[in-house]
Amino acid sequence: MTNLQQIDPAVFDALAGESKRQMEGIELIPSENYVSAAVLEAAGSIFTNKYSEGYPGKRYYGGQKYTDIVETLAIERAKQLFGAEHANVQPYSGSPGNTAVYFALLNYGDTVMGLKLDHGGHITHGLPISFSGKSYKFIPYEVDAKTLRLDYDKVRAMALEHKPKMIVAGYTAYPPEIDWKKFREICDEVGAIAFADISHTAGLIAGKALHNPVPYFDVVMTTTHKTLRGPRGAIIMCKKQYAAAIDKAVFPGLQGGPHENVIAAKAVAFHEALQPEFQDYAKQIIVNAKALATELKDQYGFSLVSGGTETHLILADLANKNIPGKEAQAVLDEVGITLNKNTVPFDTRSPFDPSGIRFGTPAVTTRGFKEAEMKLIAKWMNDVISNPKDEATLKRVKAEVTETCLKFPVPGIKV
Ligand SMILES: *Cc1c(COP(=O)(O)O)cnc(C)c1O
Repeated sequence: MTNLQQIDPAVFDALAGESKRQMEGIELIPSENYVSAAVLEAAGSIFTNKYSEGYPGKRYYGGQKYTDIVETLAIERAKQLFGAEHANVQPYSGSPGNTAVYFALLNYGDTVMGLKLDHGGHITHGLPISFSGKSYKFIPYEVDAKTLRLDYDKVRAMALEHKPKMIVAGYTAYPPEIDWKKFREICDEVGAIAFADISHTAGLIAGKALHNPVPYFDVVMTTTHKTLRGPRGAIIMCKKQYAAAIDKAVFPGLQGGPHENVIAAKAVAFHEALQPEFQDYAKQIIVNAKALATELKDQYGFSLVSGGTETHLILADLANKNIPGKEAQAVLDEVGITLNKNTVPFDTRSPFDPSGIRFGTPAVTTRGFKEAEMKLIAKWMNDVISNPKDEATLKRVKAEVTETCLKFPVPGIKV
């Protein structure tokens, strides 16, 4: 018996159930991944016992010899991985990370441009009910109605009109690659701070499969638990001139004691991402996503937002499949394929029951799935979405999903 099993069987049982779910199901939520056993070990370590307010060499409490070592490793590795001048590895997660960036560089009421939520932006990019939308004057930009891609000329025209203090680029449901240089030019033209939120694509950027905004942008925030395949958390990178403001905003501006167990796990994840194999991983994520998109489009007639993908992420509009996103998510869940319902740009349905589904390949690629498995996934998705009420189809697909999954162990889960 493990300690957990003995002391808290209720939590142990939930954990065992979740392990089985992760092992036997196909994880297509594009913001999820499977971390390595080493990352898990660091995240679950006794660094959780330690308070370390402040920064390495400048702490408020004693006993910091080893917390300073791991936090410095995390900082140096993050800087190396992205070519950053400065890195703060303390943000608890992406949303507090963005909050710290705004708190550091804006005054309440300042004008900011961010992509509209239902066009692929994040809630922290100015959704009116969020802290960001309530505290700053966000002007939402949109994707083009025809191509469903960013129209940089329109973004520029809006920037010239509104003269924002900051422009946010980097999204949560946008399949094409982003032209960072264009954003930099627009920011320079209007004197705006260029802020990239690369939460979704950080692993692809670290693995050199996508272009890196860090050399061009003033500030870059990323979560560490999506394509970057680290623990749940975030980091902020910036040019030297903003370093003091960012550090002060994270602590003591917004947070108290950093989670050094998670920072230790970030250090491990960055070490893993610095290895040459991680570049193969990053490239394969995109190869897989393109294979899945092509198969869905060409074989099964799926309508893909922006025409396909250039990243890890695919957004399908299910209007032509006569099934709403919510029902598709639920029925795919039944067969062990996990993804999420999502609005599509210019959606005519509500955000609680939108027209689309969002999915991607970071987790399945970690597991070792390649193009052959993408063809299977496309077929299963189509089988289920075309026959959502046919019990025999659902039963068959679930059995096939489980059988395939058991051939590809999940890192960090002992069988
Ligand atoms: C995931 C995400 C965040 C928020 O991260 P949390 O850790 O969930 O708070 C912020 N911005 C973007 C673009 C994201 O995709």
